Amino acid sequence: MLNLVLFGPPGAGKGTQSEKLISKYNLVHISTGDIFRSHIKNQTELGKQVSQIIADGNLVPDSITIAMLEEEIKNNPNAKGFIFDGFPRTVAQAEALDAFLEGIGSNITGVVALDVTEEELTQRIAKRQEISGRADDAADKLKKRIEEYFGKTIHVLPYYEGQGKLTKVNGIGEIETIFAELSSVIDSYKA
Ligand code: ADP
Repeated sequence: MLNLVLFGPPGAGKGTQSEKLISKYNLVHISTGDIFRSHIKNQTELGKQVSQIIADGNLVPDSITIAMLEEEIKNNPNAKGFIFDGFPRTVAQAEALDAFLEGIGSNITGVVALDVTEEELTQRIAKRQEISGRADDAADKLKKRIEEYFGKTIHVLPYYEGQGKLTKVNGIGEIETIFAELSSVIDSYKA
């Protein structure tokens, strides 16, 4: 299996690049943000549990997020591999993912972190909110999300760096240029 973690702060372009990578490499895209939003839209039990947390820009508790992610992996038994987008966001999530993958005889192949400055992120998300209308894209909620990122999520980087799995890619520039760089990192895993 080719299991890739696409890592980066809110607005780094993980969703855009994931869409392109899944069709090139025939992988299953698991975006925890998308899955949560779909639960909220469909008003499931889980959706009701997390809707306020997400609207406020806070992280959903690990226990809920990890259980949902494992379910999603189990639902795709024939996948050739996964792109994890928006997960893991805490070291506990990264450890749980490692343990779960080991249990199914697999592992994380590599982690690619999209590097984007905070100034660029704020600009991109302000623009996105006009289109998406996402409540958590509003300026005060975005501030909270960026705080969560620099407070909790950033610690996931040294975790994977310690495993020798981390590659950083410049996330500013043309979508196609970034995609080409990501592709060359992935191709290097296969070589
Ligand atoms: P972004 O555009 O900020 O990267 P996402 O669409 O990935 O946002 O996620 C939106 C929200 O969903 C997050 O701010 C958080 O509340 C919740 N969420 C998504 N993934 C996770 C996770 N792995 N752990 C905890 N909360 C999560």
